[in-house]
Amino acid sequence: MKHVIIGNGIAGISAAEMIRQMDADASMTLIGDESFPPYCRPMISMVLEGSVGYDRLPVRGADFYDRMRIQPILGNRVTALDVDNRTVSVQGEHNISYDKLLIATGADPRPIKANNLHLKNIFFMRTAEHVRAMLEAVPSARRALVLGGGLVGFKAAYGLLHRGIPVTMLIRSGYPLALQVDPRAGQMIQDELVARGLDVRVEVHVIGFDGNSRVRRAFLSDGTELDCDMVVIGKGVTPALSFVPKNIIQVDLGILVNRHLETSVPGIYAAGDVAELIDLARNTRWVNAIWPEAVAQGRVAGMNMVGRKVAYKGSLSRNVIRIFGLDVMTAGIVNAPHDGPYEVIARDDPLRKNYRKLVFLEDRLVGMTLVNHIQQGGMLIAMMQSGRPVNISREKILSASFNYRQLIR
Ligand SMILES: Cc1cc2nc3c(=O)[nH]c(=O)nc-3n(C[C@H](O)[C@H](O)[C@H](O)COP(=O)(O)OP(=O)(O)OC[C@H]3O[C@@H](n4cnc5c(N)ncnc54)[C@H](O)[C@@H]3O)c2cc1C
Repeated sequence: MKHVIIGNGIAGISAAEMIRQMDADASMTLIGDESFPPYCRPMISMVLEGSVGYDRLPVRGADFYDRMRIQPILGNRVTALDVDNRTVSVQGEHNISYDKLLIATGADPRPIKANNLHLKNIFFMRTAEHVRAMLEAVPSARRALVLGGGLVGFKAAYGLLHRGIPVTMLIRSGYPLALQVDPRAGQMIQDELVARGLDVRVEVHVIGFDGNSRVRRAFLSDGTELDCDMVVIGKGVTPALSFVPKNIIQVDLGILVNRHLETSVPGIYAAGDVAELIDLARNTRWVNAIWPEAVAQGRVAGMNMVGRKVAYKGSLSRNVIRIFGLDVMTAGIVNAPHDGPYEVIARDDPLRKNYRKLVFLEDRLVGMTLVNHIQQGGMLIAMMQSGRPVNISREKILSASFNYRQLIR
């Protein structure tokens, strides 16, 4: 059986490991755009902030491909997929045939439209190579501009503030991380960042840049100008599926997959940031572009590719973030619509900077936001993933002294 995996991120390598574990004889080819050894993408923000060295990024050794007996084709992008002939084209040159194919191409940073984007020191932050280039700009940076307050924009701003560089962040919503946290937690995060030198501007965007080879100034949509010598574009990501024939393989935002991570074409699978599947909290299809999902989905896709029919229950958004003195943990639905069928309970202790909010749908826990005292977060996530009815008092679960023994009584 010839397996071809597109993408050497964590979803692709997790699938490859599972295939090798279950089938010692399988032939495997892995095509990846990046030639760096498999690495921990979320950690690039820690490299930027300076808490982790660049050399700590790899999550597998340089011998990974040999050890797994994988034929690697690295530094090359797949440009086309021919479903009828079961082949993929690598940068228009080779055609590689497959029996089973996994698309694990992750996501690409969403581009922006602005003048003079070619200037030096304007970055995306998605890859090890991006962060290596950013590190070169950091020592001489005096003021940074971050576009977007999503996960990547937030992490870029946090990393640069951590290095003592003042940052201006342009965001559309009223607070950073609007998709990950609710307004109260967002305000707490923003206050923490502002105290360290963050300048937040809402409802304004960049229309262009100016500089003499290196960026020196940004022009904003409200007519103002901003001096900056480093810019990070963090306006979200889009699943990397430009080579996927959308008239044959069903695509919405991501590639649609069933519970076996198989696309609408038998024998072709998708996993990780590129895949769209049922979300456990929302009970609808969703792209949950997070690391633990990519690992789990890669493994399940690998099992199904070798013929073990294993069902994936569904994905769940979740995040743990440290912001100077705040620990923030969220999962599932964080911003439940007020007119929806949800019951929301919350407890706020501003003096101690403790906040927790739980969202229930009928008898199930479907969302949580915890600021500080995040110890029970793992247990609450397990409750959401199990989908089991919650049959103890909701106020008890809201309490910081809640423990698992109360669940099994
Ligand atoms: C700065 C940052 C911080 C993050 N922080 C967190 C966090 O705190 N917690 C969390 O859970 N998640 C976080 N994430 C998200 C997490 O990194 C992703 O969810 C995860 O890496 C997805 O893995 P993947 O294998 O699906 O895709 P990717 O890691 O994107 O890997 C896909 C690979 O496929 C390659 N590729 C793409 N197209 C092609 C093609 N056509 N041909 C060949 N190769 C191709 C890409 O170059 C890439 O190497 C963060 C991401 C970033 C960028």
